[in-house]
Amino acid sequence: MRFDIDALPILEEADAVHLPAKEGFRSRNEGMMHACGHDGHATIGLGIAHFIAERKEELKGTYTLIFQPAEEGSRGANAVVKKGWLDGVDQFLSGHLGIRPNPVGTLYSGSTHILATTKIDASFTGKTAHAGMEPHVGKNALLAASSAVLNLHSIAPHGEGATRLNVGRFEAGSGRNIVPGDAFLQFETRGITTEQNHYMKEEAVRRLEGAALMYDVAIDYAIVGEGLAAETDAYFLEKIPKATASSHYITDVHDRMEVNGSEDVTYMMQHVQEQGGLACYMIFGTPLAAGHHHKRFDWDEGALAVAVSALAHILAHE
Ligand SMILES: [Zn+2]
Repeated sequence: MRFDIDALPILEEADAVHLPAKEGFRSRNEGMMHACGHDGHATIGLGIAHFIAERKEELKGTYTLIFQPAEEGSRGANAVVKKGWLDGVDQFLSGHLGIRPNPVGTLYSGSTHILATTKIDASFTGKTAHAGMEPHVGKNALLAASSAVLNLHSIAPHGEGATRLNVGRFEAGSGRNIVPGDAFLQFETRGITTEQNHYMKEEAVRRLEGAALMYDVAIDYAIVGEGLAAETDAYFLEKIPKATASSHYITDVHDRMEVNGSEDVTYMMQHVQEQGGLACYMIFGTPLAAGHHHKRFDWDEGALAVAVSALAHILAHE
């Protein structure tokens, strides 16, 4: 079982309209916020650890609980896989709170449309110069990056399935009378399959290089995170409704949710599936005060019992 535990660089809402601010459990770390529910995932992991410890005489098999850092930006899971923690795993369980608002008691046995993704940092380096006396001597990194941003967002969508691109951060220059000598972008690509994300990444890199060539500046880019596409095995879509039928916490079991987001858990799922094992990514229903990654994100703690109950019933089911 895998539980991601990280937070996001977001300043959490301090106004009392936000329940965690009103009730006094807003983030203690200014500028860092659990705006995706991973604090809940950590709690669910502790809950199921407690269950396993209590029932260890009855349960069969060996269980590994992975508390994974750095899911945001898709930087953590692949490192855990490379350490060997998923080697020899027969069945892999993971999941997420929310994604879309649902009543507490709702459970999705699996998910589909987890998008493959690549996260890229790009630096353009030109040459600063006096903007009045010798602008012709400068090499304008800001213009190169601007051109890159517009052209990145104009990559043709793939005809065979959904693709995404977002430039989320742009920094450049140092003052109004200086030809800007440096610029920095953070952006991401996504695709419904690993191949379609690869198409977006290749097109993006060509546009970075083309923009740099046009303005005669240097371009340096680094892939700082990646996630794959993945599907829940049909085995779990059949097993989970049966296994959880006797849970008092679970009122409504659905088949699969279309996620349309990315998750680096896909590295773990693919590793297990490639070894002949089975992998699952559930969704635990909760109402949401605001969307994921929003400063007013909040979920219903009632979903914790639903998630722990779901996992416990799956483990105990023959
Ligand atoms: Zn998340």
